[in-house]
Amino acid sequence: MTRTAPRRHFASDNYAGICPAAWEAMARANAGHEPGYGDDAHTARAADLIRQLFETDCEVFFVFNGTSANSLSLASMGQSYHSVICHEVAHVETDECGAPEFFSNGMKVLTVAGGDGKVTPAAVEKVVRRRTDIHFPKPRAVSLTQATELGTVYTPDEVKAVWATARSLGLRIHMDGARFANAVAELGVAPKEITWQAGVDVLCFGGTKNGMAVGEAVVFFDKELAREFDYRCKQAGQLASKMRFLAAPWVGMLESGAWLANARHANAMAELLRGELAAIPGVKLLQPRQANAVFAELPKPVVGALHQRGWRFYDFIAWGGSRLMCAWDTTEADVRAFAADVRDLLVVR
Ligand SMILES: *Cc1c(COP(=O)(O)O)cnc(C)c1O
Repeated sequence: MTRTAPRRHFASDNYAGICPAAWEAMARANAGHEPGYGDDAHTARAADLIRQLFETDCEVFFVFNGTSANSLSLASMGQSYHSVICHEVAHVETDECGAPEFFSNGMKVLTVAGGDGKVTPAAVEKVVRRRTDIHFPKPRAVSLTQATELGTVYTPDEVKAVWATARSLGLRIHMDGARFANAVAELGVAPKEITWQAGVDVLCFGGTKNGMAVGEAVVFFDKELAREFDYRCKQAGQLASKMRFLAAPWVGMLESGAWLANARHANAMAELLRGELAAIPGVKLLQPRQANAVFAELPKPVVGALHQRGWRFYDFIAWGGSRLMCAWDTTEADVRAFAADVRDLLVVR
């Protein structure tokens, strides 16, 4: 009996499966008994490879997901009476169910507006200067999402500009890098250029959306912030007992270069999709395509009809657009089939 593979969608890069490099590394880690809780060779090797990638001595921890990576690293940056500044559409504000506040015992998230999903130095300065009295939670950190929730990327100069302001105001910098690889692929920079060399103190480096089954790496460039972070992870239920299966995929992805190849591919598919959609009258593209997502405004009946034809993607009602996300395994045929359906529904013959 033949089984047809389920079709691919444009809803999220977490709809995709596990890429070969990650899968094979898991299989290699499955050879027999190894110590638990991170005292194994795969975990040590993965952390070393991350230090090599960033060309610096940093502290590395592996956790299950992005919400915990963000929440726990933010909690390590301040006290319960502090606040963290982020964009109003930032995942830490809109998609983590209050976990950053919860795990920091009350650190408040302060949001700012900004074009293309980006935090600007002026916005940071404004929110910090607005209140300096004891009745307001003291700003302590800025959180930047790279690539942003709106599919754009911060250039090294943009990160550095936020850093200059942050430094003058005594703020640390946190980076939500659930799609960090896509940003590196787009910018063509060395990872250090948009992290520690641009003032980032801690990076949540995404593995899941890049092609792993599960797992994000929390990378502390300021090692002092990592003090007792292992306890924080354990208390939060984020210390993997069989840690090697969180760590081994990083070894596979980093040694083979799949982390970057996957991101480049996903970005290229998004660019192909952008081009296809741009050529269809009646489709309005929103933000520039800079990572692996295309944001487009499609007429409402067309969105409904596409869903009816079986395509899955998210509609961000607040922004009036549809988010079309490509993954490491999105194919040209997927993109062209989707665009053909859009054309079919929009173009009057
Ligand atoms: C997916 C994502 C995360 C991680 O989410 P989890 O579901 O907790 O793994 C974090 N930040 C951004 C911007 C994301 O898109």
